[in-house]
Amino acid sequence: MEGMAIRLTGLRKTYGRTEAVAGVDLEIADGEFFSMLGPSGSGKTTVLRMIAGFETPSAGTVELAGRDVTRLAPFERDVHTVFQDYALFPHMTVEQNVAYGLKVRGVPRAERLVRSRAALAQVGLDGLGKRRPAELSGGQRQRVALARALVGRPRVLLLDEPLGALDLKLRERMQVELKEIQREVGITFVFVTHDQEEALTMSDRIAVFHQGRIEQVAAPAEIYERPATPFVAGFVGTSNLLSGDTAQRVVGASGTYSIRPEKIRILSDHKAAGDPGHATAAGTVAEVVYLGDSTRFLVDLDGGGRLTALQQNLETSSADLAAFRGARIGLQWHPSHAVRVPDAPETP
Ligand code: ADP
Ligand code: MG
Repeated sequence: MEGMAIRLTGLRKTYGRTEAVAGVDLEIADGEFFSMLGPSGSGKTTVLRMIAGFETPSAGTVELAGRDVTRLAPFERDVHTVFQDYALFPHMTVEQNVAYGLKVRGVPRAERLVRSRAALAQVGLDGLGKRRPAELSGGQRQRVALARALVGRPRVLLLDEPLGALDLKLRERMQVELKEIQREVGITFVFVTHDQEEALTMSDRIAVFHQGRIEQVAAPAEIYERPATPFVAGFVGTSNLLSGDTAQRVVGASGTYSIRPEKIRILSDHKAAGDPGHATAAGTVAEVVYLGDSTRFLVDLDGGGRLTALQQNLETSSADLAAFRGARIGLQWHPSHAVRVPDAPETP
């Protein structure tokens, strides 16, 4: 099919009695920045390795650009994998590392040089080609790995937690840069991460993995605003999940509901009526967590259940906030922000 970079159909992988991947169906379009998000052990790496050809599926097929590659070796597939540990050759210079794949493929020396310099410039490393990996910072090594991937101009780039070893500031910068590079080169990126913020920031679409299955595939805002399962609601962002009696009392309906903490506003008076058209609840502040730019209020509701509300620190100081602990307050939110969450994963 045209415009389709990757299609996985009924993909499974078992190791002895462990079902690492338990039936995955997925289509990734050409040029997409696609993330696989899920907790450790949910099967993300195994899926990536089956796309790359490092693992053979127990069942199902892998298609790349419309061609069934399930039984093909990694080098017969038009993909490149960037591993978390970068896997650079320590004895080679940066330039040699980047050019190595071209050399193996018999690209002439002059062209190798031009292309590896261009790839290094693309990741902001011009001038560092003569260094060895040990003479680079973690972020620079990460860029070399990326340049080495880009130089071969693969159709698909597979990245397994590539930013995991970097500190927070550098990781945030690399997230933006990686996204920019992907937009520039137009290569399909499949990006594995357990970090929900990273996935939300970078992706065109996200697949949320849980126990070897995908529970939802959608754009970041859709995943966040309309989680398809209780697991997705809990894993992506912080959520108030209400079910049973609590849902009945707080939302006024049966089923499971998710209300994001930032959608809940604090009313200083627990008897306040709230704005027209809004739902309200009264309770006692159990905990106040100061987060710098915002504050999290954990509120035990009258009649049972707890809601977390997140408030921007516009004027309040941390001293004011401490006074809230134990206070009786009201909460309000718009009913449209109490989102119904289907109980079981929806099978496509
Ligand atoms: P993730 O990348 O989401 O952390 P993995 O795909 O690495 O998850 O692993 C999924 C499950 O499969 C885990 O329970 C893991 O222990 C198991 N697994 C992965 N690779 C192997 C292997 N080579 N042998 C046995 N079990 C494995
Ligand atoms: Mg993994």
